[in-house]
Amino acid sequence: MTVLVINSGSSSIKYQLVEPVSGEAIAVGLVERIGEGTGYITHTYDGNTTEITAPIIDHGDGLSRVLDLFNEKGPRLADADIEVVGHRVVQGGKHFAGPAIITPEVRQIIEDLCPLGPLHNPAHLKGIDVAMKLFDVPHVAVFDTAFFQQLPDEAAVYAIDKKVAQRHAIRRYGAHGTSHHFVSTQVSEILGKNNLKQIVLHLGNGASASAVVAGRAVETSMGLTPLEGLVMGSRSGDIDPAIIFHLARQGNMSIDELDTLLNKQSGLRGLAGENDMRAVREMAVHGDDGAQLALHVYKHRLISYIGSYWTLMGGLDALTFTAGVGENDAQLRSEVIKRLSPFGVKIDEDKNAVRSKEPRIISTEDSSVTVLIVPTNEELAIARQAMSLIS
Ligand code: AMP
Repeated sequence: MTVLVINSGSSSIKYQLVEPVSGEAIAVGLVERIGEGTGYITHTYDGNTTEITAPIIDHGDGLSRVLDLFNEKGPRLADADIEVVGHRVVQGGKHFAGPAIITPEVRQIIEDLCPLGPLHNPAHLKGIDVAMKLFDVPHVAVFDTAFFQQLPDEAAVYAIDKKVAQRHAIRRYGAHGTSHHFVSTQVSEILGKNNLKQIVLHLGNGASASAVVAGRAVETSMGLTPLEGLVMGSRSGDIDPAIIFHLARQGNMSIDELDTLLNKQSGLRGLAGENDMRAVREMAVHGDDGAQLALHVYKHRLISYIGSYWTLMGGLDALTFTAGVGENDAQLRSEVIKRLSPFGVKIDEDKNAVRSKEPRIISTEDSSVTVLIVPTNEELAIARQAMSLIS
């Protein structure tokens, strides 16, 4: 019994064949540069990786090549006992508080939500349409926004004219919800408590923070779109919206140019010229001023969010780091926790320095807050949600 998980982007398709109970990723792959001249596919099964370089016309072409790879390199899908296909969908608007079986109505809602998720939902639909033709099993959409559907109004509502907000469905939907849900649930299991006050820091190329009380998200840093909040690889996170008016009026920048500036040319890339945290660290070590400033701004914003969420929840039991930077950057964790030391938060630096794929506690026994590293696994979370919905 397995689940095929598909994360279809505008020019890429990530896929995993997952055994949802054990959590084993049986096969993993990525189709890149769809429709862009030369495309790439990597498919890994049983420790062997196959790489293909060839033009990939569209998503249908990409997925049918993936099917060929499964049949040639294994595992054979006919023997894989796929029960359900789980699709990642970034924007579910206010419609989905959990996963949904993809019926024509659900598909239509995902399409109607394209204006709120212009970079993601159209791409997801391509993957969904092709996969539904290829796999005659139930297909389930798992929404990044679902975990944040229950945000209290005071966290979800922007203080703008409410008639305008209603007309255009403007509110804070959040993103990375599948990861925040997965990680906060794991923390509850590790600590054996359901009524925790938690902060989860998902620090990857995209980055977001959430505040979770007794399993319910009460705040998150991403908003209408994944642009709001923390400093990210290439996204600015929070800015004064008046910067946009100023650049449009004084800098003659178009809406598209501003979109590109804030989503693709800002964050670490904007300040240091690199969006990859490892590269920024390397530059900073060699005395690059831009990289050093980028790290200070990144940390400053992060610590501000931790303080804000701690206060909003009226306490904090667990603070968890996840995703590429959160799981791997011991220096960042150490520096962040040092800033929290006036509040009694302490980590064991030896534990902090250990690299591992396992969830673990890195705080000391006498720390006021339990600090953890919990590797995120969005594919497994999607597989489990899809499986539990159909069963
Ligand atoms: P993700 O989006 O979760 O895949 O995370 C990607 C980010 O994690 C990139 O900015 C990487 O530079 C960062 N990352 C991966 N390994 C490390 C590391 N050892 N130290 C710092 N950042 C890392």
